[in-house]
Amino acid sequence: MRSIVVMNQKGGVGKTTTSVNLAAGLAKCGKSVCLIDLDPQGHAGLHLGVEVDGRTPSVYDVFAGRKTLAEVKQLAVENLWVVPANLDLAATELELVDAPDREIVLRRAMEALQQTQSFDYIIMDCPPSLGVLTVNALTASKEVFIPLQPHFFALQGLSKLFETTALVKRRLNRDLRVTGIALCLYETGTRLAADITDDLTRFLQASDPTSPWKSAKLFESRIRRNIKLAEAPSFGQSIFDYAPKSTGTVDYADLVREVIAAEAGTVSTSSNAAA
Ligand code: ADP
Ligand code: MG
Repeated sequence: MRSIVVMNQKGGVGKTTTSVNLAAGLAKCGKSVCLIDLDPQGHAGLHLGVEVDGRTPSVYDVFAGRKTLAEVKQLAVENLWVVPANLDLAATELELVDAPDREIVLRRAMEALQQTQSFDYIIMDCPPSLGVLTVNALTASKEVFIPLQPHFFALQGLSKLFETTALVKRRLNRDLRVTGIALCLYETGTRLAADITDDLTRFLQASDPTSPWKSAKLFESRIRRNIKLAEAPSFGQSIFDYAPKSTGTVDYADLVREVIAAEAGTVSTSSNAAA
């Protein structure tokens, strides 16, 4: 089982689009996948047509200790289960403040889930912050993927994000590693996109070899800007079902192939040097 957190404290960089379409693409390849929505906006569930009304259990109930993940998950499409979120989840940050084990609620819930069903992948879509929900995701997983939008300030937030992973690794989860960085909303052929790619490669090369991101791979797949990716959520479908011939499908299918290729613990460490 691989557990992957899709995180970046910036909003609008492609976290949800990547979580959903990566999860859906893996499911299409026959992997059993559970997508956990950790953003109170609930967009990951909505993107797959899973709506939460007042009576539907959500991930909030898991953090509140009222439900298990197994009770909350819903089958969205073949092989793909979703643990949805809604605005209630915004209260979790406050409600957990004084809880002694507040950082490991999700890890415990995931351990219990694995007793009931074995998934090939658990993917977590994070909110745009580094608060207790994101820390729970980092504590419960082994891998971190970072979607980045290549623009001038893209690398600015990266060191803060890396610091958080390093802190969680030190205190709570020794197995944690940043394994992938995906360039999203990519404008092909622009000077800026190429510059950011070079900067990022240099940044990774220059990083401390003991850091949790030392083996981060800059995915070769570039997720180009494609209007179909922005339209798909309102139809409650992944890009693969909504627009199977779009460049969005081509790009996310490439990403899925790279992710599957890294199975069996053979996550490439040479890609930084080769890029
Ligand atoms: P985040 O979860 O990081 O806030 P989203 O995945 O929700 O970011 O993306 C932000 C907005 O950009 C959404 O409206 C989404 O549909 C759109 N979007 C994401 N990736 C692409 C892309 N490659 N091409 C076009 N629109 C995109
Ligand atoms: Mg999002």
